[in-house]
Amino acid sequence: MTQRRPPGGTLLAAGLLSLALTACDDPPQRRQETFLAFGTLVDVTLYGVPQQRAAEAIAEIEDDFRYMHRTYHAWRPGALGRVNRLLPTGEDFSAPPSVLPLIREAKRLSARTDGLFNPAIGRLIELWGFHQDARPDTAPPERAEIDALVAKAPSMDDLVVHGIRLRSRNPAVKLDFGAFAKGYGVDAAIDTLRELGIEDAMVNAGGDLRAIGRAGDRPWRVGVRHPRGRGVLAAVELHDGESVFTSGDYERYFEHEGQRYHHIIDPRTGYPARETTSVTVIGAEGATADAAATALFVAGPGGWKDIARALDLEYVMLIDHDGEAYLTPAMAGRVEWVGAEPAAVHVSAPP
Ligand code: ADP
Ligand code: MG
Repeated sequence: MTQRRPPGGTLLAAGLLSLALTACDDPPQRRQETFLAFGTLVDVTLYGVPQQRAAEAIAEIEDDFRYMHRTYHAWRPGALGRVNRLLPTGEDFSAPPSVLPLIREAKRLSARTDGLFNPAIGRLIELWGFHQDARPDTAPPERAEIDALVAKAPSMDDLVVHGIRLRSRNPAVKLDFGAFAKGYGVDAAIDTLRELGIEDAMVNAGGDLRAIGRAGDRPWRVGVRHPRGRGVLAAVELHDGESVFTSGDYERYFEHEGQRYHHIIDPRTGYPARETTSVTVIGAEGATADAAATALFVAGPGGWKDIARALDLEYVMLIDHDGEAYLTPAMAGRVEWVGAEPAAVHVSAPP
């Protein structure tokens, strides 16, 4: 079965919870709107902003999201699509200015995660079929094809940037920013709101979100979805400017002969990372938290602490395939379990 992200799946978990906890006594001037971008529902909530200004701000954000969705889409005509057509030539070309900042940021994050966050593996994503909105229910790709792509070792280091000129030293590089474009978009939206003088807001893209200020007269409070089942696993209160990003094996997957194949690929093997079911990161910048969640997912229960240290992450929660939770001490101090606690809870600091 192919699972497209259910409309509002995680959004519901995070969105409803914050709603439930903040909408008790009709807070003044709360405005909430939802639109579709990056294949998910984006939910913007503002407090204390006059109706007209709120409507204008949300319209501006919606415009930006649509632009970014078009520009950063690896598989459709657009700026990144053009880059992906030109990279295999090995010639240098003028990169679209809209894409260059993402390339720079992706190079930095990929280097710091030892290549576990690796947006240069677009061809692997394509081979697995996860670039399609609805992946057909077929068998996984042939091992030989996967091995051949892994052997070509596409990496962000293969990209050479000189000013606005770009070229790839490796024809196997194809960029897919699916693991951090949403974070980048949420950051851009929050920046826009701040520039408009808005102090209390949340931008929630399918459960991946960032908040500023407060939810009216109380702090923002969000839920982290349980990786198995429909409910909420944990709740967290957010400080000003914090983002919460989760990578889960339930977002996109298909099943074949009793085995689940999901969309987060270990660049070292070319196969979906095996030992994790979800990772949640709380951080400042959404782009970093988003890329970090993907890298930590790949690193798994044995390797996540090295990545957390390399990225200076304070708040990490990883759930493994047995339902056991691994948390940094700071994260353990903030999560409130909702419903049943995980099978085991391991708290330890990155070295
Ligand atoms: P979500 O879709 O839940 O936001 P992620 O942020 O982890 O999850 O992004 C997953 C997407 O990132 C995949 O659909 C694919 O496009 C891309 N991707 C998969 N594996 C990797 C990886 N190791 N490094 C970078 N991008 C990846
Ligand atoms: Mg991510």
